Amino acid sequence: MRLILLGAPGAGKGTVAKLLTKVDGSVQISTGDILRGAVQAGTELGKKAEAFMKAGDLVPDDLIMGIMETRLQEPDCAKGFLLDGFPRTIPQAEALKTLLAKLGIELDVVANIEVPRQEILNRLTTRRTCVNPQCQAIFNVRSQPPKVDGVCDKCGSPIVQRDDETEEAISRRLDTYDEKTSPLIEFYRQEGLLLVVDAPTSEGVVNAITTRING
Ligand code: ADP
Ligand code: ZN
Repeated sequence: MRLILLGAPGAGKGTVAKLLTKVDGSVQISTGDILRGAVQAGTELGKKAEAFMKAGDLVPDDLIMGIMETRLQEPDCAKGFLLDGFPRTIPQAEALKTLLAKLGIELDVVANIEVPRQEILNRLTTRRTCVNPQCQAIFNVRSQPPKVDGVCDKCGSPIVQRDDETEEAISRRLDTYDEKTSPLIEFYRQEGLLLVVDAPTSEGVVNAITTRING
């Protein structure tokens, strides 16, 4: 499947994407994961992106489009892809449209995952992420704690609160979402691709998406 997952930070895009990869082998492409990996590895891209990310601001569109233009042409994308955290702005959505047309790729659906603001705030402040750039597993101290306090179940590395998950950075990310990303809902409605999902669990969201795609 070829899919965009839209939704505020904390809506569960990453969890849903991971579940969907198991359905048909489509790959998850998370610009957030790619950027965090680049920051940790200290690459040129990472150096350019780091300050924006720490503050909870968006990384400039041209850097993001550079990443995506390369990534979408890698062979594993032929099976399908789940875009998680991209596009985030109207210029990114326009550039993606041009890029996909150039590559001869058509999207199946754009799923907007709707979650109430209070629930989003609860989730983000209790979220913990594995520091290992190859892993980046996500836990939640309230709803999905690791087996051993502060330690990743999957790889044994420490799990921490992300720099951009302080209360200040979170409220900035949510404002940025409202201002820059929420207009994409209307954009994709007009493209005829939008599916609105407000299922309470990630499994419910996955069901709604697979039902729509399988007709
Ligand atoms: P979230 O939990 O906010 O959805 P992500 O892991 O998707 O977080 O992204 C973390 C940070 O990486 C964002 O706050 C932003 O700084 C940067 N980022 C990720 N994807 C994009 C994008 N498509 N455009 C601009 N910045 C991005
Ligand atoms: Zn880990």
